[in-house]
Amino acid sequence: MSRFLGRSSGSVAQIRAAESVPVIERLRVTQYLRLAAIGLTLLGAALAPDVLAPGRNQAVLTTLAYAGVVVVAEAGSRLLKDRVVLLFSALLIVDGLWLAWASYLTGGLTSPMRYLVLLHLGAVALLASYRTGLKLAMWHSLLLLAAYNGQQPGGWLRSTEPAGTSLLGGTPEQRLVVFVVVLWLVAVSTSALSAVNERELRRRRRDLEALTDLAESLERTVDSAAVARTLLDSVIDTFGFSRGIVLAGPEGQLPLLASCNLEEETARRPGRPAASAVVAEAHASRGTVLVSGLDEQADPWLSTLLPDAGNLVVVPLQAEGRAIGAVVLEQSATEGNRISRRIVSGLERSASYAALALRNAWLLEQVQRLAATDGLTKIANRRTFETTLEREVARATRSAEHLSLVMIDIDHFKRLNDEHGHQSGDEVLRNVAAALSCECRDFDTPARYGGEEFAVVLPGCGPEEAFVIAERLRAAVAAAPSVVPVTASAGVATYPGHAGDADTLVRAADDALYESKRAGRNRTSLSAGVPPEAQVDALLRRAVTQRLGRNRPVDDGATAPAPRTG
Ligand code: GH3
Ligand code: MG
Ligand code: MG
Repeated sequence: MSRFLGRSSGSVAQIRAAESVPVIERLRVTQYLRLAAIGLTLLGAALAPDVLAPGRNQAVLTTLAYAGVVVVAEAGSRLLKDRVVLLFSALLIVDGLWLAWASYLTGGLTSPMRYLVLLHLGAVALLASYRTGLKLAMWHSLLLLAAYNGQQPGGWLRSTEPAGTSLLGGTPEQRLVVFVVVLWLVAVSTSALSAVNERELRRRRRDLEALTDLAESLERTVDSAAVARTLLDSVIDTFGFSRGIVLAGPEGQLPLLASCNLEEETARRPGRPAASAVVAEAHASRGTVLVSGLDEQADPWLSTLLPDAGNLVVVPLQAEGRAIGAVVLEQSATEGNRISRRIVSGLERSASYAALALRNAWLLEQVQRLAATDGLTKIANRRTFETTLEREVARATRSAEHLSLVMIDIDHFKRLNDEHGHQSGDEVLRNVAAALSCECRDFDTPARYGGEEFAVVLPGCGPEEAFVIAERLRAAVAAAPSVVPVTASAGVATYPGHAGDADTLVRAADDALYESKRAGRNRTSLSAGVPPEAQVDALLRRAVTQRLGRNRPVDDGATAPAPRTG
């Protein structure tokens, strides 16, 4: 049996460099923090003046000046909306200057304001980016060194550190080294945290974008195979799998609906669908199943499609609580045998969107099928026959080929109904339709024209060949299972020899059928062609259609050479 694997971090996809949070929002948060720092400093100066001695008053003035800058910057951010990034960076430089100067005034490396430097660094690294955090650590270090150097004998600053032993102990150099080391530790740890968060945020954003793109594409897709293809392309592109297939069918079977990176022969001729143990497992658990390999006995179908597969992810496709298939993906060798929860939930969400789209596509296909087929006999109905005939006439015109139409009518069918009941009559109609379908080539179209009358469109057939086929079709009707032996009459007409368009072709075949009936039934008659005035009518109709530009294939036919008729 398959071995189930644990889950952990999975593939690392290319991440687009995009800001997760707009700069204006980051600026707003840093402004609140600035106000908090200013308030804290002023409060400290008022409530515990000794703590900020000796330069308390100057520090308060500096802080007020800094508050002014912050307020001006706030007003500027509203005016200079396109320069917010610049403003954000400039304010960080001003922050550093204020903190360095206020710290210097209130005791240098013994000042309680130095803790604000660490707070500033951590907050900016987390709020902005790890790069900004590292740059800021450099800026604070430079300012500290400048203040330290300025206070050296003969320097441009007088020392503000209180005489005697400070709380920290050690020499000023040692205090500087310790503080810079702590500062860098804070910078590196918060920056690392920020980098991890940033990467995860971008990944999730990318996943969300992929999911939105998938939903939009699925909305435009109405064909079930295209839905499966869209799903597969999306998940393989987003999560970087090496191979993938979608197995799904409306009746619970698992035909191959789409594949990616399968061997060409397998993708083209996939073989007969069969039950799969891992897909059944995914359906039973209603969740993603991770397997390290396939058991050929339990999974012959999947093993054929994905030979030598390892580390597979099987995501069930479910619509309205019903299992309708699965997406099976193989992790690329570089990803190992672990997969992150993020990928699993991304796959499951994509699969649920696609499952609904598949169900809708099948419903639409079913409706289209129902609209195109005759309810009793399950062959093409009158509407499909008419569109097929129009299309085939246009094609025959373009390719200068013959097109024949055979009309078949069961003889004395009313009598059969009267004597054996309508249900027996229906059964005969079903059997006749099945016999006609069996007798036709792939590209012929047998249709129920109405009542007990059938029409067969024979592309590429001249009159003689069509006559032979009509006789074969009549023989098939006579051989179809029936309560009493039945016979049929047929009429054959060929385009363009007997008629100038689809309408006149039907009329010509119908006239030929009437001729068979008139001559005693159970026979085939070849059309003598529709009368010249009907041909002229047809030509006029084509000219009008051509003018209106409604039927391009027929337009083409007006200039194509007509084939010779027999
Ligand atoms: P002919 O040899 O001249 O064609 O005689 P016919 O009796 O076959 O022709 P007619 O047009 O007089 O009768 C056609 C019959 O086909 C009448 C109708 O009851 C029967 N019919 C038409 N549609 C259906 C159907 O869906 N089911 C059944 N059981 N009978 C049908
Ligand atoms: Mg009849
Ligand atoms: Mg009839």
